[in-house]
Amino acid sequence: MPDKTDSTAAALTKAPIRLNAAPRNREEAIRAVGRLLVEAGAVAEPYIDSMLKREAEANTWLGSGIAIPHGMIGDKIYVQADKVAVLQVPQGVEWSKGETAYLIFGIAARGDGHLAILRRLTRLLQQPEQLRSLFAARDPAAFHTVLAAPAEAAEAAAEPSAQDLAEVTLWRLDYPGGLHARPSSLWIEAANAAGITLQVRLGDRVSDIKSLVSLLQLGAKCGDDLYFSAQGAQAAEKLAAFLQKVRALSAGEKEQARLAAARQAQSLARSWQPPSGRAPIIGVPASPGLAIGVIRLIAADEPEVEDKPLPPEQSGVLLQQALAATRQQLQTVIDDVTRRLGAAEAAIFKAQAGLLNDEGLIAAACRLILAGRGAAKAWALAVAETADRLAALDNPVLAGRAADVRDVGKRVLANMLPSRAGGPAAALPKGEKIILVAEDLSPSDTANLDMAHICGLATAGGGPTSHTAILARTQGLPAIAAAGGNLAAAKTGATAIINGDSGALWLDPTESDIAAAQAEIARIQAEQRRQAEQRRLPATTPDGHNITIAANINRPDQAAFALDQGAEAVGLMRTEFLFLERSAAPGEEEQYQIYRAMLAQLGGRPLIIRALDIGGDKQVPYLNLPREDNPFLGRRGARLLLHRPDLLYPQLKAIYRAAAGGSDVSIMFPMIMTVEEIIQLKDIAETIRQSLQAPRLPLGIMVEVPAAAICADKLAAHADFFSIGTNDLTQYTLAIDRENPDLAAQADGLHPAVLRLIERIIAGAALYRRPVGVCGGLAADPFGAILLAGLGVDELSMTPRDIAAVKARLRRTPLSYMRDLARQACAQDTAAAVRALDHGAPAAETGAAAPKAPAEERPE
Ligand code: PEP
Ligand code: MG
Repeated sequence: MPDKTDSTAAALTKAPIRLNAAPRNREEAIRAVGRLLVEAGAVAEPYIDSMLKREAEANTWLGSGIAIPHGMIGDKIYVQADKVAVLQVPQGVEWSKGETAYLIFGIAARGDGHLAILRRLTRLLQQPEQLRSLFAARDPAAFHTVLAAPAEAAEAAAEPSAQDLAEVTLWRLDYPGGLHARPSSLWIEAANAAGITLQVRLGDRVSDIKSLVSLLQLGAKCGDDLYFSAQGAQAAEKLAAFLQKVRALSAGEKEQARLAAARQAQSLARSWQPPSGRAPIIGVPASPGLAIGVIRLIAADEPEVEDKPLPPEQSGVLLQQALAATRQQLQTVIDDVTRRLGAAEAAIFKAQAGLLNDEGLIAAACRLILAGRGAAKAWALAVAETADRLAALDNPVLAGRAADVRDVGKRVLANMLPSRAGGPAAALPKGEKIILVAEDLSPSDTANLDMAHICGLATAGGGPTSHTAILARTQGLPAIAAAGGNLAAAKTGATAIINGDSGALWLDPTESDIAAAQAEIARIQAEQRRQAEQRRLPATTPDGHNITIAANINRPDQAAFALDQGAEAVGLMRTEFLFLERSAAPGEEEQYQIYRAMLAQLGGRPLIIRALDIGGDKQVPYLNLPREDNPFLGRRGARLLLHRPDLLYPQLKAIYRAAAGGSDVSIMFPMIMTVEEIIQLKDIAETIRQSLQAPRLPLGIMVEVPAAAICADKLAAHADFFSIGTNDLTQYTLAIDRENPDLAAQADGLHPAVLRLIERIIAGAALYRRPVGVCGGLAADPFGAILLAGLGVDELSMTPRDIAAVKARLRRTPLSYMRDLARQACAQDTAAAVRALDHGAPAAETGAAAPKAPAEERPE
C-alpha cells in the first residue's frame, strides 16, 4: 500500500489542470473543478453536488486568492482516488464578499488525505510570489513544480535526517556569539540562492538550512564542529560557494562582539556607583539612565489560550491573516527604529520578521490545526514548543532568541485574540515609581507600560539587542537585561536603584546611596530641564554667532510639535512620506492642500520642501519601478524625478500654487550629482512657475553624493542653497550601505573623509555666498552639531526631539572653539579619533561634574 506522503505528492503532481477558465460565479467554478475530478476518474458525479453543499455550509476560501472546494465528509464514498484538480481563473471569480479566487483546488480525498493535501496548500500560502506566478501561468508544468517541490523540501525540513548528504565539509564555527539569528538569516539567504538541498549537522542534531528556528535549535556555539552537507546538481561547487559566504560573515561577527565588549567596558568605567560600594545584581546594560524605585515582580504567565477548533481551512485563514497583520506591524517597528536608532538596532526586528516566515514554526502550527486544534491554540502551542527548545540550549545568545520567538508569537496571538492586546503590566498599582522585574518582557508588554509610574525595567532574560531593550531605549526608560537567576533576590516592595548605563541593580540601598543617586538624578534632570526650558531660545553661541535650528518633518500635523520643541523653520519636509502606504500617488490638488496646511501650521516660518526622493530604501510599489540590483546606486532622487514627469510636474505645480500667497517656501532637489541635473530641474520649475504666474522660489539642492561635494564650487553657481544630507553622504563616501546592520558601527558621519567633504562643500558655496544647511543625522548629534557649526554651516535641521540638546550645546560653545575643533577633527585619522575630541559640555555651563576638556580646548 502506498504511504500517505506518496499519495499526497501524486495527488498534487498529477493534478488535472484547466488553465484560463472564466466561470461567472462561485457555483460555476465549483462545478467546473468538480467536473475535472470526475473526468480524471477521482470522484463519481454526485460528488459535485456534495461540493456545492459543503460550500453552502462553510466557505472553503483559504486566503491569498485560493479556494479549496471539497465534498461533505459523509460523501467520501463517492471518492475513488485521492486527487486534486486545479481550475485557473486569471481574471478571478468572486468567492465571497470581497474575496477573489484565482486558483481553485478541487479536492477529492479518502481518509484524512484531505488534511495532508491541505497542509501542502497552506504552505503554498507562505510563498506569495510563487503563488502569484501560478495565477497567470501558461504551462501546467509550472503547477506541478510549485506544488510538489517546495512541499518536498518542507517535509525534509520538518523531519531532517541525522545522516549527512552526499557532499560533506566540516567547519568549526568561529562566530563569538554562536549561530544566532542574524547570521542564520544570511545562511538561509545563501542556501536559497544555491538552489540545492543543504543541511548542517552538529553532533546528532541536524538542520535543513531553510528554517531559522531549526538552525537556532542546533544551539551551535563558537568552537563547535559543524558538518555541512549538500546534494543535487553541482553539489560540491555549490557547497563550497555557500561555505565561502558562511566564512565571510566571521569578520563582521567578531567586530560586533569586539564593539559590544568595548561599549560595556566603557560604560562600566564611566557610570555612577553608590558610595557604600555594595555589590549590585549585574545584568547587561539595555537602556541608559538612573532611577530609584520600588520593585514589582510581574508574572510571565499568561492565561491559557482557549482552544476553539474550526474547520481546518478557516483556521488556516485566521492564522494566515494574523501572520500578515503581524508582518505589517513589525515592518512599521523596523522603519521607526531604523530612523530613530539606526539599522543596527533594527536588525533584530528584521530577524523577528523572518520568524513569521519560518517554515518550521508555521508547519508546526499547521500540523496542530490539522490535528483538530483551533488557530490560536495551535499557534500558541507551536510557539511554546519552539521557544522552550531554544531556551533549553546551553547558549545565552540563542536562549535570548527564545524571547523573540515568544514575542513574535504574542504579536500574532494578539492579532487573533483582541483580548490579548493589553499584556501583563496592565494591572500594576499607580502612585509609586516602579522598577518592573520580570523573567522577560515582550516588546508588546513594553509598549503598553504606563510611563507615568514605571521608572525602570530589569529582566532575567533578554539581552541588549532584545526587542524590549530597544523599545526601552526609544522611550528613555533605564533598563537592564539578562540578569539571570540573581534577580530572584528582588522581592516586590523592596527599594532599588537601577543604572541602565552599567547594567546594575542595587537592592535595599543605604540611605547615603539613595541620597547620592537622588543627587545624580537631580543633576541629570536639571540639565534636561534646562535644555527643555531653553529650547525656544535661539542657538546663539556665547560669542554671538547664530545658527538656525530647523526640523525634519513629513506632514502638517507634525509641525506644532516641532515648533514646540524649538524649531525655527522646517529644513526638510520629506514629501515621499505623502506617497508611501497608499495605493496611488497623491495628485496635484491633494498635495497643494497638504503644502497649504503645512504653511498654515508654520505661521510664516521658512519651509523647505524636498521634491520626491523615492528609490534606495524608500520604495513605492504602485510606481512599478524596475527592480535594481543596487537601488542606492540606481535611479533615485533627482534621477527619478527627471525620468518621471508624471511625478515631478504635479508636485512642482502644487508647491508653486501653495506658495502663491507670498509664503517663505523653498524647493530642494534630492540626490543631485551634476550641473546638468540642476539646470534641467530649474528649467522645468521655471516653466511651471511662469505658467502659474507664481512668485520665484529659492531652488536648492541636497548635497549627498561625493561627486556633488567635490564639485560644489560648480554646483553653487546654479543652486540657491545647499542642504547636506549626511546620511547619504556618509554611505556613499564610506561605501557602506546605510541599511547594513553589520557595518552600521563603521558608518560614522564623523569620519574625517565625510568632514573634509563638508568643508569642501562649504568652501564651494562660499564662492557664491550660498547658505548651507545640514539635514542628515549628524546635525542631531550635539557633538556633530558643534563640529558642523565650526565648519561653517548656517542651519541645522533635525528630528524635533533632538532640538533641545543641540541648542543647549551650541548655546554654551563659542564659535571660536567650534572652529578650532572642526579644524582638528578634519586632521584626525579616524572617526574614533574625532569622537575622542568630544570632552563633553563645559562644566561651568552645566553646573555639574561633566568631564572637563583639556585647558587649551576649553571654550571659556
Ligand atoms: C540624508 O541623506 O542625509 C537625508 C537627509 O536624506 P534621507 O535620509 O531622506 O535620504
Ligand atoms: Mg538622502
